[in-house]
Amino acid sequence: MTTRELDAIIAENVARVRRQMADAAVRAGRDAGDVRLVAVTKYVGTEEIRSLVRAGCTLLGENRPQQLAAKAEALRDEPIRWHMIGPVQRNKIRRTLPLVEMIESADSLRMIEAVDRVAGELSLQVPILLEVNVSGDASKHGFSPDLVVETLKKVVKFPHVQIKGLMCMAAFDGGLDVARRDFRRLRMLREEIRKDGFLLPKMDLFELSMGMSHDFKVAIEEGATIVRIGSALFEGIG
Ligand SMILES: *Cc1c(COP(=O)(O)O)cnc(C)c1O
Repeated sequence: MTTRELDAIIAENVARVRRQMADAAVRAGRDAGDVRLVAVTKYVGTEEIRSLVRAGCTLLGENRPQQLAAKAEALRDEPIRWHMIGPVQRNKIRRTLPLVEMIESADSLRMIEAVDRVAGELSLQVPILLEVNVSGDASKHGFSPDLVVETLKKVVKFPHVQIKGLMCMAAFDGGLDVARRDFRRLRMLREEIRKDGFLLPKMDLFELSMGMSHDFKVAIEEGATIVRIGSALFEGIG
């Protein structure tokens, strides 16, 4: 496939996804501009990523620290901002922090403590989202919903991490009704925490990162501010 053909397909996919995002926002009485697209590039290489950037997607996500570091290095000349969206082993933190705008997948107190410590050493402030295991799948990462308030109360005191919100993945094979239930749980959890009052004004938990290729419309209807979309952007490139 030529670069031109690749560009045409990816541009069309991006346009379609953005249109579907806007439609879902409007259906929910929200502004289309309130939802950000994180284009997940874990399935593709640098050619496809450059094509994405030409199509206007510059906020990208990777779920493995090593892949993120390799791609960030290879694409240093592009105006890309990276979100880490998968587990970060503690020995990968130092390398990852300077490369990312946000860690969406903070999934244990030990990990957040380590991020805070290393961020301090590197003089960085690191925006994070707490990953919450709303579906209760044993295979999923993230805090159990019952532990989120307690965790936040500790993390509020860390000087080098800023909690911007919550992130989740819906149950794998429950279908869209189950996904909607999971996304609603995440939103309700945020409402409960806000009522508790201990967070403000340092953090308002504005961000809800939820929704992937197959369920992002439902996620936006349920209040997502960030959707993480991979495969839908690369349909048709074989
Ligand atoms: C891969 C991945 C996505 C995107 O998945 P698609 O179904 O390809 O859109 C979103 N979030 C996380 C955490 C992922 O690992």
